[in-house]
This record gives sequence, C-alpha cells and structure tokens, in this order.
Amino acid sequence: MSNLSHTGQAAYLVINAGSSSLKFSVFQGGAKADLEAVINGQISGIGTAPRFQAKDASRHVLADHGWAEGENPDRATLLSHLIDWLDGHLKGATLVAAGHRVVHGGTRFAAPVLVTPEVLAGLETLIPLAPLHEPHNIAAIRALAEVYPSLPQVACFDTAFHQSQPWQSQTFAIPRELTAEGVRRYGFHGLSYEYIAHRLPQVAPELADGHVVVCHLGSGASLCAMRGGHSVDTTMGFTALDGVPMGTRPGTIDPGVLIYLMREKGYGADDLEKLLYHKSGMLGVSGISNDMRDLENSDQPAAAEAVELFCHNVAKQVAALAGSMGGLDAVVFTAGVGENSTLVRARVAEKLAWLGVAVDPAANRAKATRISTTESRVPVFIIPTDEERMIASHTLNLVSAVSLNRAA
Ligand code: ADP
Repeated sequence: MSNLSHTGQAAYLVINAGSSSLKFSVFQGGAKADLEAVINGQISGIGTAPRFQAKDASRHVLADHGWAEGENPDRATLLSHLIDWLDGHLKGATLVAAGHRVVHGGTRFAAPVLVTPEVLAGLETLIPLAPLHEPHNIAAIRALAEVYPSLPQVACFDTAFHQSQPWQSQTFAIPRELTAEGVRRYGFHGLSYEYIAHRLPQVAPELADGHVVVCHLGSGASLCAMRGGHSVDTTMGFTALDGVPMGTRPGTIDPGVLIYLMREKGYGADDLEKLLYHKSGMLGVSGISNDMRDLENSDQPAAAEAVELFCHNVAKQVAALAGSMGGLDAVVFTAGVGENSTLVRARVAEKLAWLGVAVDPAANRAKATRISTTESRVPVFIIPTDEERMIASHTLNLVSAVSLNRAA
C-alpha cells in the first residue's frame, strides 16, 4: 500500500497509544504548511471491549462500532482494522507514514527518529523511566510494523524539546553517579511546547526572542520557560508527577511524605504509584472529580479549594520559571484547562498582578488570542495546542528526508 513516490496527496497517520486506548488522526498534504487534519478518532477498550470511533474534520461521525461479544481482538488486529478502514476513507490520498507520540526519549533521543529495530531496542531500555506509558507506545509501533511492515514509522518524543535546557535545570542535587545513570529531570509535554514555540512568533512576532512561560494545563499539567522558542526550564522532572497539581496527580510533594507513608503506613511501590498517579490532585483534594468543569460547577467548598490550590501552584510556578530564566515577557495558556477555563486564567493572572500581569475580563471570557489589557506589562495569550499536527509535521519531514536521500 505504501508508495513513497506516489503522485496523489500524501496522508500521515498520527498515533497516541495508551494502556487501553489508542487515539489516531490523519493529516493530508504535501508540505508542512498545508497539512490538513482530515480524520480523528480512537480505539478504546483495548483488552476488554474494543470500540472504534472516527470523525471527519467537521466532526461528522464516520465510524462507531464495537466487536461481537466474546471477540477480543488484540492490538495488531485492531491496527489492521484501522489500516483497512483508512484504505476506504482516504479519498485518493496514499498513506505514506505513521508518526507516534512516545513519552520518553531519555538522553539518547533528542529529536524525532525513523523507527528501526535498533531504535526499538533503544526505546525498550527506557521503559523503567516511564513504565505506565512507554510500553504502550512501543506495543503500538510493534503491532503496526507487524500488520504493515513497509510503512515507515516515526517516533516523536515528549521529552525531546527539553534537551536544550542548561544543566542546572536538568539536574537533581543527588550523587553524580545517580545522575549519570539517568536519574535527572527530563520534562514532558514537549510536543505541545514545540507547537506553541512555532505558533507564538506568528501570533506575536515581537516575542520571538522573548522570555515566555507556557502553561500547558490539561488533565496532565506542566509549565515551560522558553527563551527564544527554546526550553530552558520546566516543572515536570524525572516523571510526569512533578510540578503543579493535576487531575489525579499531586505535583511536587516533599519526598519525606513518601518515606513516611512507607515506614508508618506500610505503603509499597504499587501503593505509592496508585496514590500519586490516580488518587491525588484535583480528585484527591475535592473528593468529587478530576475534571475542572465538574469542580467549577460544584457548590462544594472542597471543589473550590481544589481549584484554588491548582491556581496557586500554577501562579507560583510562573514566577519560579520567570526567576529561573531571568525575565518574563509573556504568559501563554494552552491545553484543555488553559484554553477553556476562564476562571483558572483569571485567578492565575490575579495572583501574578505583582509581576505586572493584567487580564481583560471580557477578552478572557471571549477566549481571545490576547487576553491581557493594553496596560498589562506582561502580555497574556491563549494559544490552542496541536500535538498531533506537530507529530504529522515531524513525520513528513523525516520521511521526505529519507526519500530525498534515496533519490540522491
Ligand atoms: P489531556 O492531558 O488528557 O490531553 P486535555 O488537554 O484534553 O487533557 O485537558 C482535559 C481537561 O481539560 C479536562 O479534564 C477538563 O478538566 C479540562 N477542560 C476541558 N474543557 C473545559 C472547560 N470548558 N472548562 C474547564 N475545564 C475544561
């Protein structure tokens, strides 16, 4: 099916694989600038009761079906189903490559890479660094290679964008031999930050060389200090647990708490993992929900406290990152909460008033691109992120480079 020297439009499959679901999208176009998202969907319930759903760019449902009871297709069968389904829905375009979101690239993968058996072996060694995510990313790459061996695959890393950071931002104050083993700060949400770094100069050319703090606030949340479009510091560290509180994760927590829980309450590694990944954050504090919408709509004091704790920590980290890079020329909000929650943006901005941040309530409610007042010393923006487009764009670049090399 794959034909790199095709004459029709090229299509790129973007895959974001989790433990029980696999989100996918398809982009079409011949050049980075004209990549167009044409399909997105997901396969959910992998391993239990799989369901296949897909929509077109206007959000019209193209597919929504499950499998017969008792049938439980494995990952490779589900991906084979996806490829066959795409065959009938690409409208003349040819699938030329797939790009995957891979959570961890370690120190080795500082940029997207064409997957080879050697790269896959390298990714396997990173599983201990991201045990909840990396195995599923790798499983999707392997399964796709099994059903469609000739399709080039590209791995795009959430950590890669942060490789530009100075050593002070990447290093824990622990014995050097542990740092040398890879116990260091990596940072995540890199594909989102990279997309924002690319968009910001289009939105505000005067900030191309500025000190910018980007707040990626979704169910997972982190902030990134960017100087001239490069990451110089971030709130997530060795794992995606560090930094600000999230839907179900606490963010930064005194490591002494973990020793206490182990010694005094008999917690083991699995108990800690459950506590820190699934039971803390907005859910743990509110006792109601991990979803910001539910908390904003609730009249329970614990819900309001959870939102306040979140905003307090986001504002604190904006200031910390401004300190880390020695300036603050703009703040950007992005991802589910950052793009949609008027309340969170307003509260965070209020807490940053001492830094010269002032948000215009009407512009904030209207979700304008620039939401700060004209007097605000620090401009504030909402820029919707698009990690999938970033992956499609990297995939196009790498596959084009390979075909150029072959032609040369
Ligand atoms: P993920 O980290 O899963 O990619 P997203 O960036 O999609 O997360 O963000 C999902 C979160 O965004 C939801 O859990 C919800 O809390 C929040 N969210 C979405 N829409 C709104 C809204 N209108 N108001 C407040 N929060 C919202």
